[in-house]
Amino acid sequence: MVKAIVGANWGDEGKGKITDMLGQESDIVVRFQGGSNAGHTIINKYGKFALHLLPSGVFYEHTTCIIGNGVALNIPYLFEEVKSLTDRGVPEPKLLVSDRAQIMMPYHILFDQYEEERLGGKSFGSTKSGIAPFYSDKYAKIGFQVSELFDEESLKEKIERVCEAKNVILEHMYHKPLINTEELYNTLIEYREMVKPYVCDVSAYLYEAIKEGKNILLEGQLGALKDPDFGIYPMVTSSSTLAAYGAIGAGIAPYEIKEIIAAAKAYSSAVGAGEFVSEIFGEEADELRKRGGDGGEFGATTGRPRRMGWFDAVATRYGCRMQGATQVALTVLDVLGYLKELPVCVGYEVDGVVTKDFPTTVKLAKAKPVYVKLPGWNQEIRGITKYEELPENCRKYIEFIEKEIGIPVTMVSNGPGRDEIIYR
Ligand code: GDP
Repeated sequence: MVKAIVGANWGDEGKGKITDMLGQESDIVVRFQGGSNAGHTIINKYGKFALHLLPSGVFYEHTTCIIGNGVALNIPYLFEEVKSLTDRGVPEPKLLVSDRAQIMMPYHILFDQYEEERLGGKSFGSTKSGIAPFYSDKYAKIGFQVSELFDEESLKEKIERVCEAKNVILEHMYHKPLINTEELYNTLIEYREMVKPYVCDVSAYLYEAIKEGKNILLEGQLGALKDPDFGIYPMVTSSSTLAAYGAIGAGIAPYEIKEIIAAAKAYSSAVGAGEFVSEIFGEEADELRKRGGDGGEFGATTGRPRRMGWFDAVATRYGCRMQGATQVALTVLDVLGYLKELPVCVGYEVDGVVTKDFPTTVKLAKAKPVYVKLPGWNQEIRGITKYEELPENCRKYIEFIEKEIGIPVTMVSNGPGRDEIIYR
C-alpha cells in the first residue's frame, strides 16, 4: 500500500515528524522531488536532526530509503548527510538511488548564486542550492542522469557540449570563472564511485514491492503553495510538490497512491518572498515566531526567520484539494496556547468581493484577509494524548478548521517529539 505525506501550505508544516512516525510502519520511504533546499526536523532517540536530502525513514533499521528519479541529487551532499547520522550513532541506512535521478552539478549551485546576485533586490529568495538551474537543465535536456556516469566516452562528449554554452554565459553574463571540463569530468567520476553501490532501477524495485504488499511512503518536500503550477508562481520551487507527482518522481502507477496525508500547520509560516495573505508583522509576529515550531520559526536549511501569519483556511483548503488529501495532520497546535483570541482567515477580499477560492497570483496580490476570531484556550496542551482531554476551545478551533477545509483532521500534533500526537 502506498501512502504520501505532503504539505498543505508553504512548507515547514512539520511533515518530518509525521513522516518519521509513519516511517515506523513503512518498509520503504521515497523522496520524489526537490533536493537539499529544504529541511525536515526530526527528534527521536538519537537526538535532533535536520534532514535535507535523505528520506525521513533513515532512522529505522527495517526501512529502505529511496532517492527517486524526481529528486535533484546532490551526490556529495547525500553522503555527507549519511555520515552526519552515522557519526551520531544512527545505523547505516539502507539506501537506494534511482539510476534515472539527475545529478546536481557543481555549476548549478554556482549559477543559482550568480543569478541571485544579478537580480539583487528582485531575487526569488533562493536557498542557493542549485535547484532552479538544475530543473531548468533537466527540462532543457542538458541534465545528467546517474546512469550516464557509467558510460565514460559519451559522458566526456556531453560535458564538452553542455559546458560550451554554460561558459558563454559565465563569461559574458556573469563575468565569472569558466568551467574546466576536465576537472568536471573527474568530479563526476568521483560522484560515480560514491553512488555506485546504491544505484537501482527504482521503478522496477517499487513495482515488485507493491506486488508483495509492502508499505511504501512517498515523502514530499515543501508544500502545495510552492508547486510550480498551482502555487504562488513565480515564488515557487522548481519541482512539483504535489502528491500526484509522487507517482512520477518515484516511478509508480498513479492509482497505487491510496492515502494522501496533508500536513497543515495550526498557524501560517513561510520562507522566502511571495504573496502571503494572512501574514502578520511586528511584535505579534515576533511573539509567534519565537514560540513557534521547536525553538522558534527559523529555516531548517538557511536559518532565515520565517514569515508568520494566522491560519489561512482559504489557502489550506486549496492546498488540501490540490494535494488530493484524504486526511489532514494538524501540527504545532501546542504553540497557540498563549493567545486569548485566534484569528482564522476564512476568505479573501479581492476588489471588494469576498471569495473562498484561492486565486492566481495576480489576484492574490490584491487579496485582503477576512478573519473570524475564535476564543483561545490559554493552556499548555503538550502531554495530552486523548482528543477529549484537549480544552474545549482547542477542540473548537480544530473542528472549525476541519469544517473550513472539508477534510478530516485525523491527527493533531501537540509537540515536536515523535510521540506527541493525538489520533482522532
Ligand atoms: P517540514 O519541512 O514540514 O518537515 O517542517 P520542519 O520540520 O522544518 O518544521 C517544523 C518544525 O516544527 C520543526 O522544528 C519541528 O520539530 C517542529 N514541530 C513539528 N511538529 C510540532 C508540534 O506539534 N509542536 C511543536 N511545538 N513543534 C513541532
